[in-house]
Amino acid sequence: MTELHRRLLAAGCIALVFALGLLAASPVLHGQLHHGQAPSTDDSCAVVLFANGVSVPLALIDVPPAPADWQKQDYSGAVELLLDSPRYLLQPVCGPPIA
Ligand SMILES: [Zn+2]
Repeated sequence: MTELHRRLLAAGCIALVFALGLLAASPVLHGQLHHGQAPSTDDSCAVVLFANGVSVPLALIDVPPAPADWQKQDYSGAVELLLDSPRYLLQPVCGPPIA
């Protein structure tokens, strides 16, 4: 797809969204789209769908609950103390010299 085709597609999408918004905001224009008939809110044309949005029944997106397998965590501490030996016997008092 060339740059010109992408720009034409983007311009077409913008024009479509603008036209749907204009038709959704103006009942007169929406009625003219339906050849003079009064638009109803329950017709399933693109203008009404654009204006009201699409609601998906919750049963279609119902997520099953996570399995409830509870396991007791073992929080008992270590029986034996493991002490690390210090890395340096004397802590450095300053950083390395600046060259
Ligand atoms: Zn309509």
